[in-house]
Amino acid sequence: MDFATRAIHAGQEPDPATGATIVPIYATSTFTQSAVGEHKGFDYSRVANPSRVALETQLASLEEARYCAAFASGLGAETAITSLLSAGDHIVVSDDTYGGTYRLFTKVLERFGLGSTFVDMTDLAAVRAAIRPNTKMFWIETPTNPMLRLVDIRAMVALKTAGQLVVVDNTFCTPYFQSPLALGADIVIHSTTKYIGGHSDAMGGAAMTDDAEIAEQLRFLQKTLGAVLSPFEAFLISRGAKTLALRMREHASNAYAIATFLEERDDVERVYYPGLASHPQHELARRQMRGNGGIISMTLRGPESRALDVARTTKLFSLAESLGGVESLINHPARMTHGSIPKAERDRRGITEGLLRLSVGIESAHDLIADLRQALDATDARTTPASRAEAAGSADVSDPERIPATQSQGAPTA
Ligand SMILES: *Cc1c(COP(=O)(O)O)cnc(C)c1O
Repeated sequence: MDFATRAIHAGQEPDPATGATIVPIYATSTFTQSAVGEHKGFDYSRVANPSRVALETQLASLEEARYCAAFASGLGAETAITSLLSAGDHIVVSDDTYGGTYRLFTKVLERFGLGSTFVDMTDLAAVRAAIRPNTKMFWIETPTNPMLRLVDIRAMVALKTAGQLVVVDNTFCTPYFQSPLALGADIVIHSTTKYIGGHSDAMGGAAMTDDAEIAEQLRFLQKTLGAVLSPFEAFLISRGAKTLALRMREHASNAYAIATFLEERDDVERVYYPGLASHPQHELARRQMRGNGGIISMTLRGPESRALDVARTTKLFSLAESLGGVESLINHPARMTHGSIPKAERDRRGITEGLLRLSVGIESAHDLIADLRQALDATDARTTPASRAEAAGSADVSDPERIPATQSQGAPTA
């Protein structure tokens, strides 16, 4: 069956007790046994809960994986996956990774004797040089966050030797656009808080694998570490995941339209989006991904502080952390999502004060572009006040707030 069909039907059988078409929120911590040890497959909700099992079945189907374990957050899933390793082991990690991943690896796992080396995974020689005799895991994020660089999953899989695991964080692409297990990865991890849930109303994470032994260990870690997903969150994420195909198509087509609009503006210095022919790994994107997702990063011309001005001038794009919801968000990585990374390290990766990241939602592309246009015009030092007013007027004449807000930004021309 096709993706869109599996998204709606996998794991979603009518409730055996009542026939309820939608899997109920099983708000129960425990399950009554008919005799000691005799039960219907559930005894305690940390171990298994029917609402969570339904979601796990659905997500496994979407990722075309044999097994899935759902967690309370993406980082809960990361904690379980890295707990497959032991003190003295070593992880090679893509260097432009989610800020919380960086924090977990450097501030916690390191203390437990689990070392990691952050490396530019677009550079195979650098990856080879980072591998040590005790390297047990490759941790790949692709596209990377926030620089949207791509890691060639097949090339990483080719580097691994017996006893090493390749883990891919597939949060940005989702299984709709990228299938790491089919490319040879051992484990896929998701923050289901993002696109899979899709509505910015639930936290969750998931780990998928085809390997029965890894799956059994992950189940053990799920119940032992305890970062389990609640039945209510399982319901929300499952409901969101049913429309993943629709949403991802819309995120990607909106993002492409916006990336093209931004690239054509001469007050925008650089646009990072794998779908643009100007992206240095555009060919790899076409080979490895079935679509380019909804995240765009950019740097602007003008002083770096202009990024802060744009971030507070957009109206449809809310200034917020996170990504992957139906609503559009704008984020200043250096001060928000990636603030926990030391400045020298941020600068090395290109996460400057002038960088902005957009999570393009599924509103009308026309309205989103108008919003970005008014924010860019209002903050462009070279734009005359007259053309600013005109641009703000054409962006949305029905909103009287827009023009004063635009003017009050006072571009530093005067
Ligand atoms: C958000 C995110 C995470 C962490 O997930 P939480 O659900 O916030 O714990 C991990 N990886 C990526 C790529 C993310 O965007």
